[in-house]
Amino acid sequence: MPHTEDIPAALDETGVTELWSRTLDIVKGQLNELVFNTWFRVAEPLGLIGSDLIVSVPNAWGRDWLRTRYTSLLSATLSEVSGEPMGVRFVVRTPDEGAEGFEPIVDEPVEAAVATVDPEPTVAISERRAIAREPERAQEPQDPTGLNSRYTFDKFVCGESNQLAYACAMAVAETPAFKYNPLFIYGGSGLGKTHLLQAIGHYISTYYPHQHVRYIDAHHMVDDFTDSIRNKGMDGFRRRYRENDVLLVDDIQALIAKKETQEEFFRTFKYLHDGHKQIVLTSDRPPYELETLHERLISRFNHGMIADINPPELETRVAILKRKIEAQQGLPVPAEVLTLIAERASGNVRELEGALLRVRAFAALTPEKRITIEGARDVLKGMFPERSVRQISIQTIQNEVCRYFSLSKDDLLGNKRSQNIVFPRQVAMYLARELTDMSLPRIGAEFGGKDHTTVMHATSKISKLIGERKAVLDDIQVLTTAIRQKS
Ligand code: ADP
Ligand code: MG
Repeated sequence: MPHTEDIPAALDETGVTELWSRTLDIVKGQLNELVFNTWFRVAEPLGLIGSDLIVSVPNAWGRDWLRTRYTSLLSATLSEVSGEPMGVRFVVRTPDEGAEGFEPIVDEPVEAAVATVDPEPTVAISERRAIAREPERAQEPQDPTGLNSRYTFDKFVCGESNQLAYACAMAVAETPAFKYNPLFIYGGSGLGKTHLLQAIGHYISTYYPHQHVRYIDAHHMVDDFTDSIRNKGMDGFRRRYRENDVLLVDDIQALIAKKETQEEFFRTFKYLHDGHKQIVLTSDRPPYELETLHERLISRFNHGMIADINPPELETRVAILKRKIEAQQGLPVPAEVLTLIAERASGNVRELEGALLRVRAFAALTPEKRITIEGARDVLKGMFPERSVRQISIQTIQNEVCRYFSLSKDDLLGNKRSQNIVFPRQVAMYLARELTDMSLPRIGAEFGGKDHTTVMHATSKISKLIGERKAVLDDIQVLTTAIRQKS
């Protein structure tokens, strides 16, 4: 049922359209044109719920994009235009949606949330489950809980690179708040953190239906916090995060430098932990790079567990591709093509999925409609221009630099300041920065726990020297070739 009773008479359909177009006129000036055309042009205002404007977008991707990046900007602009404090919520449009029939959730009172479709990536599973559901609205496959139905344990391929994280996630899912609490999973982008986190949510909601589970992206939590402060809705905020048996927070690095949100989150965290509720956190970097979060959320708790996820090895990549192919419809993929894709797309699983998608899409567009190794090579050449795109490890870099300069690893990673050691150390740091996607602090840590400013200094020093001395350029070239060969 549309919430017509919530729409103030003063803002009827034309009023809403007008409000939205004036808002767009203002934000347009602050955004790059491409962003504006891609995301904002396709958005449509639907109506008001309380002081929130509900905006529909064609798909879940657009919804998340707008929500994570532009909630604050749009709320502020809407408030400016209307002269009253306003918020904005995004929902996914159904294919045949008119101006009516949308039923976004009112995120405030939990009771009100139950009867409507949740546009948020958050869940109150047990409550929702009890209610007869309506047809799905999101184009992404999602189950009634709001969790993405693709992200379950049985769709997760386990290999050496993710074994620990998988085992810990499974243990938490089987015995919530009993074994590892909090569980902290970290690893690079596209390696399956969100998948595992949501798998825990699915599992618990299936086998412990009375448990109240909530999945939340920390970026969203920051926005939510800001909105709640602005709208004096802190009670609602607290309730949303505290009334849970299982709280799953994705990408907590988003809380770095968000001092107030962090404070509030820490209190929530402590509240839940004291009440023996399960908490699972993910992050794109290891705990020691999370500044205060490290101490407050992770290291101080007994029974906590930290698990990393690494880029999948070749066998795991092949297994993942096979699993995806089984689950999808589409052209058959010859074994040699499968191996080729797994070899080329070596960085992360998202890349792997992208490569498979492109290879299949390309073949589907040819008259033969057949996947061939030549076709696949062509497609992948564009995606991965360099022949070898293997992950280069920092150990390989350190080993090769030691060998090249006849230096011991202890010296390379130590603190001696003589020039015959400092220069190779700086070269190694420079190469680590260039050839891996590690952050400065991470590299510092890998060099015997040095500060990120040391790494920064080293990289700028060497970049400068490369331009000034042929000999240094030669060192770098020879070393790069050696490192690539060893990787
Ligand atoms: P992250 O949150 O670490 O950035 P995601 O969980 O979003 O990564 O994973 C990216 C994509 O790769 C998702 O579609 C996910 O289902 C898939 N994926 C990642 N790891 C695996 C795995 N081990 N088995 C199957 N699919 C995986
Ligand atoms: Mg993720």
